Amino acid sequence: MGLVVQKFGGTSVGDTDRIKNVALKVKAEVDAGSQVVVVVSAMSGVTNQLVKYCQEITSDYDVKEYDVVVSTGEQVTIGLLAMALQAIGVPARSWTGWQVPVVTDDAFSKARINQISVEGLRSCLDAGMVPVVAGFQGINEQGRITTLGRGGSDTSAVALAAVLKADRCDIYTDVDGVYTTDPRVVKNARKLDKVTYEEMLEMASLGAKVLQTRSVELAMKYSVNLRVVSSFEQNPVGTTICDEEDIVEKEGISGITCSHDEAKITLVGVQDKPGVSAAVFNAMAQANICIDMIVQTDSADGTHTDMTFTLPESELSKALAVLEKNKADIGYRSAISDSDCVKISLIGVGMRTHTGIAQRMFEALSEKGINVQTISTSEIKISVLIAGEYAELAVRALHSAFHLEDKG
Ligand code: ADP
Ligand code: ASP
Ligand code: MG
Repeated sequence: MGLVVQKFGGTSVGDTDRIKNVALKVKAEVDAGSQVVVVVSAMSGVTNQLVKYCQEITSDYDVKEYDVVVSTGEQVTIGLLAMALQAIGVPARSWTGWQVPVVTDDAFSKARINQISVEGLRSCLDAGMVPVVAGFQGINEQGRITTLGRGGSDTSAVALAAVLKADRCDIYTDVDGVYTTDPRVVKNARKLDKVTYEEMLEMASLGAKVLQTRSVELAMKYSVNLRVVSSFEQNPVGTTICDEEDIVEKEGISGITCSHDEAKITLVGVQDKPGVSAAVFNAMAQANICIDMIVQTDSADGTHTDMTFTLPESELSKALAVLEKNKADIGYRSAISDSDCVKISLIGVGMRTHTGIAQRMFEALSEKGINVQTISTSEIKISVLIAGEYAELAVRALHSAFHLEDKG
């Protein structure tokens, strides 16, 4: 008997009719002879509302209590889906993160899963029941509730599929697969039948929110057979995320992403001597702030230069406070920040073998009068930082410059 993990996102469980629709999808899988573990998100909009409540209490809330609040959305949906399954004759029971338990580290609001005990879920399955597990949540070693970061139910599902050695992990969502770019931004974006783990990892980490980055990392590490499919289609095919060898017709460029959670800091007048970068990035690392693009040039006068780096916009005020606190140690004249920027990225394994991709990208942007502020590259991606107002224009221009549109 095969084992399948099915994960349903917020829109898919957005109201009670949709929860009943999800129950039918689970039943179909059970009727087809599989053991099924279901993972659900909170109903759409609920987590946002819970985050808002926290912010309304104080801007400086305790993240431990934030996790207690924002994890509650999923508890509602596991109960409702278990009821809906029972109502159509499918034995089911709900499982919160701590009941499983899904044990995480202590990074409240962005915790990582350390371990999942499967005994309870296995006996539930062996008793012929469908376990309905709350995504997004876990528990730390001290018994405090943790959450896995926004979009974390994907990671819960893939982690469960890995520990249960599931035959498949199907991520049911409100689009029918992974597209060349967000289909809500570019109407003629093309659905990809297959995409490599590596490309999907870059796409997710660079702004395609269809899968949480950590879920793709885990799928790649444990070779989870991962699909993204629509909740609103009969017999969906979707997109399979797989190894490069499993793709016969490889895409040159697979996708374009846009990340809005970006900000830029320029330190003016830093000394051009060993140890300065270490002082800056040590201070950032101590404060748990992830730095992305870094640009520094040789100083013209041999003594001072400027250093620019990017970071998540949500961390900007914290970063500026850290820099101010360490100003004497680091030694800089002033810090200039800009949060009105976005990062646009072009992703594809074809970059390893094709030349001229960067040139085509910069040409397409310059034709639209878009100024590139910062550039970073890896083997399979090129990212540029541009002014926020040009985000959609840039994505569309690049999508057509690389002929990614759906021709059907
Ligand atoms: P869920 O609630 O099911 O987890 P999400 O909202 O997290 O769904 O993710 C699905 C959304 O991801 C889609 O509605 C779509 O707008 C967005 N998205 C962004 N980039 C892409 C892409 N390249 N392919 C498909 N969807 C994308
Ligand atoms: N409900 C959580 C969120 O909105 C987790 C998820 O949907 O994956 O981020
Ligand atoms: Mg999601």
